[in-house]
Amino acid sequence: MAGAVVNALAGAFWDARNAGRRLLAASGLLEVRCPGCGLVIPRPERGRFCPACSADLARRESGYCPSCGEPFEDAASPPHPCGACLRQPPPWDRLVFHGAYEGLLAEMLKAYKFGRALGRGGELGRMLAETWLARAGEEHPPDVLAPVPLHPRRLLWRGYNQSLELARPVARRLGAPLEADLLERVRHTTPQVELARARRLTNLKGAFRADAERTRGRRVLLVDDVSTTCATLVECARTLRRAGPRGATCWCWPARGASGRTR
Ligand SMILES: [Zn+2]
Ligand SMILES: [Zn+2]
Repeated sequence: MAGAVVNALAGAFWDARNAGRRLLAASGLLEVRCPGCGLVIPRPERGRFCPACSADLARRESGYCPSCGEPFEDAASPPHPCGACLRQPPPWDRLVFHGAYEGLLAEMLKAYKFGRALGRGGELGRMLAETWLARAGEEHPPDVLAPVPLHPRRLLWRGYNQSLELARPVARRLGAPLEADLLERVRHTTPQVELARARRLTNLKGAFRADAERTRGRRVLLVDDVSTTCATLVECARTLRRAGPRGATCWCWPARGASGRTR
């Protein structure tokens, strides 16, 4: 209950803030700067980056594993499954990959996740939506978006769920409903980053619960922010799977070097 209230308040805040910015931009009062480097852009469009930052943030079309987003040394090789995914395919049908966790993208994600730079969520969410449309949108439109949930205790402490805030602009762009409670975190767990690899999956056992009624027969797009090991995403996807969706697709920003991944 407290979680739903916090999520609703965060949503109302960002809607109001965005409406205010649109009004200022329309009246010419807002100096628009590149959200990546701060450069003032002549005749800018809202949410657009300067040419240098755009190049830095361009979608990666080759040199990665399409199942888990592991970037390969050879950035020019066609997308192909990595050894880990060949041995044990992940529990989702597809993963939407934008780019390796490096450069401006990594800076933006770090600022968003750890620096409480919530404004970054809009830019990242728009990129996510564009990548989704380019990679999977036509063939696999989602029926519902589900963010990776936080435990209510952690949500109260943090004030917002970063995966949910990232999913909002995507849901708007894709015209699909966003259901923050489709997946719930029913057990408080130690943050994954504080654990050794072997403990990461057992730490999450039974941590999530999916609403079976609302999951069954639907195509679910699961949204995470940064996935260092995929362990959280794997456990969420497994939980969803048990509820019988028509398909499960994941979005996350896989951190470079998934060698610490546990499945
Ligand atoms: Zn820039
Ligand atoms: Zn892989």
